[in-house]
Amino acid sequence: MPSSERIKDKQQEKLLLIATVEELFAREIALREQSDTGPLLVFPSQMTREWPLAPDPEGKAVILGFEGAIVGIYTTLTVRLSRSAFFKCKEMWKNAAIFEAQVGGECGIWLRHIGNVDEGKAELTLFFKPEASEHTRLQFEEYVHTHLKRRALPETIQRRRIVVCTECGASVNESHVILRKKRGFDWINCSVCDARISLLDGDSSLSSPRAEIPQIIKMDIAADKGREIETATSIIKGKEATNDFDVFLSHNSKDKPFVERIAELLRQHGLNPWLDKVEIPPGMSFQKYIINGIKQSKSAAVFISTNGLGDWQEQELLILNNRRVKKNLPIIPVLLPGLNVIPDEPDVLLFFSELNWINFKENVDELEPLEKLIQGIKGLYKD
Ligand SMILES: [Zn+2]
Repeated sequence: MPSSERIKDKQQEKLLLIATVEELFAREIALREQSDTGPLLVFPSQMTREWPLAPDPEGKAVILGFEGAIVGIYTTLTVRLSRSAFFKCKEMWKNAAIFEAQVGGECGIWLRHIGNVDEGKAELTLFFKPEASEHTRLQFEEYVHTHLKRRALPETIQRRRIVVCTECGASVNESHVILRKKRGFDWINCSVCDARISLLDGDSSLSSPRAEIPQIIKMDIAADKGREIETATSIIKGKEATNDFDVFLSHNSKDKPFVERIAELLRQHGLNPWLDKVEIPPGMSFQKYIINGIKQSKSAAVFISTNGLGDWQEQELLILNNRRVKKNLPIIPVLLPGLNVIPDEPDVLLFFSELNWINFKENVDELEPLEKLIQGIKGLYKD
């Protein structure tokens, strides 16, 4: 590549990388994993290590056939299961992954392409360690099935259960089961122990509607939340790298715990708050430091509580009001529990008495004022 085509600016290169990672998290293609050397990016579709147990893992129980964008379906399934709170990814191989249920017991998936890879046909085999409870298996299977119903071509999804001998636990050869059924039999003899195995129950339980499993919805919510937090973390990294702050948090240090919690919640929404928590860089005066913070912020939230204004806050408010008038800086007064109007003292608060304010009535975790604050920071909140 000629050097003129390359990204010249290191900073720009870094930002591009951060933006790419953000996209990978948002599309559920990659996972962030902690390692001894720091966070690692993991791509389930790019694993190269062959899975030693293929094609016949112990404990295989169900096979789901489907058609569609196979790699995407498999990757997002792996990522969403890992973020689902009920299951944690334990190990990954090429086209296979094992998850540990939160309540104990291992559940696995193995992907097999049918025919040519570009044909878009595949089978997912689910397998379980004996310790996995009946409910864990059902929950895992239902989650996988729900995922396929959403992302694969719906009419192509087929679910078949592996028939297992109830006497000795040996699994019955699948093609034999199919041939037996074609001949009209609803039973087969175990080739190991000779016991008579019913071929009925598996199928009938598949077609009958199942009771809704409430954990499926909870798993989805956890997976969505995980995606949002990982994406927001990436967005914040980009903003930190460029000193780009969404909101300056002006507050009395006595209200610090409340304001720090707000800052954390804003970060979860991808907003980068300026908070005077970090040490003042050497050689910089506190005032200069504050002024810089205000200049780098696209809006300001002014926290007012029954503690009154902090030592520096009054000066901050003068500077903020100045920028509001001259630069149109959006300012959002935030009343903490115990207040329900902006006090008229000290005088500097009179500058803000006309503005739309937000009120946390009981505690910091109230959703409505938080939502209004986020809208306000984004410049969208109109009362
Ligand atoms: Zn048997």
